[in-house]
Amino acid sequence: MIFGADYYPEHWPEERWPEDAALMKKIGINTIRIGEFGWSVIERREGEIDFSLYDRAISLFAGYGIRTIMGTPTATPPAWLCQKYPDIYMMDRHGNVRGYGSRRHYCYNHEGYQEETKRVVKMVARHYSHNDNVIAWQVDNELGCEDDVLCYCDRCREAFTDWLKRKYGTLDRVNEAWGTVFWSQTYTEWEQIIVPKDTVVDGYTGNGHNPGLMQDFKRFSSDSMYGYAKLQTEILREESSKIITHNIVSEQCDNYRLAELFDTIGYDAYPYSEWDHNSSGRIGFLYDLSRGYADKPLWILEQQSGPCGWNVLGETPKTGQLKLWSQQAASRGIEALVYFRWRTCPFGTEQYWYGILDHDGVPRKRYQEIGQAISSIQENMEYLRLPEKKKVLLVYDYDNKFCHDEQPHVRGFVYKEEVVRYYEALRRLHIPVSVGSLAEDLEAYELVILPFVSMTGREDAERIDSYVKNGGNIILTPLSGQRRTDNQITTETLPGVFRNMSGVTVVSFHAMEKEKIHYEEIGNMQLWREELELDSAESFRKEWLSPEGSALVSENKYGKGLVFYISCCMESYDRMLQEICKETGTASSYGDIPECVECIEKSNCLILMNHSGEKQEVMLKGYKDSRSDQNSIIMEKYGFAVAVSS
Ligand SMILES: [Zn+2]
Repeated sequence: MIFGADYYPEHWPEERWPEDAALMKKIGINTIRIGEFGWSVIERREGEIDFSLYDRAISLFAGYGIRTIMGTPTATPPAWLCQKYPDIYMMDRHGNVRGYGSRRHYCYNHEGYQEETKRVVKMVARHYSHNDNVIAWQVDNELGCEDDVLCYCDRCREAFTDWLKRKYGTLDRVNEAWGTVFWSQTYTEWEQIIVPKDTVVDGYTGNGHNPGLMQDFKRFSSDSMYGYAKLQTEILREESSKIITHNIVSEQCDNYRLAELFDTIGYDAYPYSEWDHNSSGRIGFLYDLSRGYADKPLWILEQQSGPCGWNVLGETPKTGQLKLWSQQAASRGIEALVYFRWRTCPFGTEQYWYGILDHDGVPRKRYQEIGQAISSIQENMEYLRLPEKKKVLLVYDYDNKFCHDEQPHVRGFVYKEEVVRYYEALRRLHIPVSVGSLAEDLEAYELVILPFVSMTGREDAERIDSYVKNGGNIILTPLSGQRRTDNQITTETLPGVFRNMSGVTVVSFHAMEKEKIHYEEIGNMQLWREELELDSAESFRKEWLSPEGSALVSENKYGKGLVFYISCCMESYDRMLQEICKETGTASSYGDIPECVECIEKSNCLILMNHSGEKQEVMLKGYKDSRSDQNSIIMEKYGFAVAVSS
C-alpha cells in the first residue's frame, strides 16, 4: 500500500531533503506527491524549461525507497502566463473578474490556456514517463474546489450556446424544454442565449432565472470542467502507461462522470478545517461517496495531518483522532494514504495548514501519531483490504443536487446534508451502507434509499420499478418524482413516475421553515412534510401520523418487493430506518455496539472505530476480538479494533 506525504522540495533548502527522507522512511512513508503547484519551478519564464530541481528531489528520495506521484502543474498558472493572457480569468455572476493572487485562476473554456495546458502536460509527461521512480500522475489539483466551475465570461456564453446547439439542435426545442413562453423569454436567435448573470431580481438562492436554463448551465459547466480534465488525461495516456488520478473534491461537477477519466479515484480528507467540523458520520459519508464514484481503487491524496485553515484555523484534532481518521479511511479498502503535508510552510496562503512536522521541522506528537496510524493499518491490512458487505444503497445524484441547490423548496434544506442524515442514521444503526448513483447495479442490494430523487428519467424509473418487482425494497422520500429531466415540474399526479409503485398520492404539503414538530418515538420533524392519500399502500406504523392525520410512512407491496414512502424530513431517521430495516430483513445483529462506535462489516470480520472521547464497551454476538479472542471489547477513546467471526 502507498503511504505518502505531500512534499514541496521547492519550499525547503536542498540540504534538508535527506533528513526529511530519513524521517519519512522511519515511520513507513514510501511515497511523496510533488509538482501540482510547480509550474514556475519547471518554467520560470516562458520557454525556460528546467526540471533539475524535481529531478534531484525524485532521485534523492528514491535512494530512501520513496517514490513519487507527479502532479501536472495547471492549478496555478504562473504570473508570466497570466500576463500573456490577460483574459484567462473566470468571471463571477456579477460580471467581476476573479483575478490573480491565489490559485485556480483560469476559465476552463479559455482556448489559450487549454493550449498552454496541453504543452505543459506533454512536457511533464515526456520528461518523466520513463522514470520508474515516478509511479503515477495527478491531474491538476482539486478541480473546481474554489467554487470555480460556474464561469460567466463571454467565452463561456459562446461555449454554452454551442453546447445547447449540440443538445437540442434547434432553438424551438430549447424554448420548449425551458418553457420560455413564461415572462416572454422566447429566444429567436442563438446570439440571444445568456449565461445566468445577475438580474434585477435578488432572490434567496438565485437571481430569478429560468430553472431549465439553470439546470442546463450547471450541466454545461460540469461538462466544461470534465472536458478540461480530459485534455490532460488524453495526453498522459498517449505519453505513458502510468496510473492517472485526481483528487476529486468539488460538488459542482458530476463526479461519477469525471471519475471515468482516471485509473484511481482520489479524495482529499479534512474532517476539521477552517471550513468544516465534520461528525464522524459525515466523514464516513465523504469517504463512501468518493468510493462510490466508480468501481476503481480509492486513493486518499491528502489526509489531514494537523490543525488547518487559511486565515483562521479549524479545531485542533484531539490526540488519537488523526490516527482514527486514517484508520477510518483505510477501513474503506483504500490503496493509498497520502498525508497533507509533510512540513508546515512558513510562507504563502497555507501558513496555518499544519503538516506532520511544525514550521521548525522538529518531529513531535503528530509525527508519532501518524507513524502509529501507518503501523496499525499495516498490521490489519488483511482485514482492511476486504470489501465492505453490500446491504443498503444510498443514492446520491448530481442532477438532483444541481436542481435542489438552486431551488431548495424551503429555507434550510440542503440536498447533501439531508442525504447525510440518512447515512448517519444507518451508520448509528450499524447497517452496511454504500453511496452511489442511480446507475449502480441495484440487484446487489437488499434495500435502496432514494432520498429526494425529485428529477428522474423514465429509464431510471423503469429500472427501479423492475428491481422492486423482482424482490428489491426501496425507500422514497418527500419531493420524489416531482420533476422531469428538463427541470419542468411534472403535470402527472405526484409522486409522478413513482406513484404506481408507491401506491400513494401526495395531496398536499407543508413548507416548515419555522415549524418543528416533536414526536416522542421518532424525534423531530422539520423542513418539509407531505400529506399522503393511501391508494394501494398501507400506513407502515398506525401511530406515526402527520398533524393532518395522514400516514407519515407508507408501505406498499409491489411485485415481490416493498416500497416505503417517508413523507417528511426528520432531524434524525434512526427510529424510522430501524423499523423499516427490520421489516425488510436488512437490520444488523452484531451484539451490543454503542452508536458512537462505527462498525464496518467485511466478509468475515468487523472493523470497529470508537469516535467518542471516552472509553466504550462493545459486547459482540457471533464475533470476537481478533487479539484477545473475547466477545467483549473495551475500546479506548478514539480506539480501533478488529473483530472476527467466532
Ligand atoms: Zn469562462
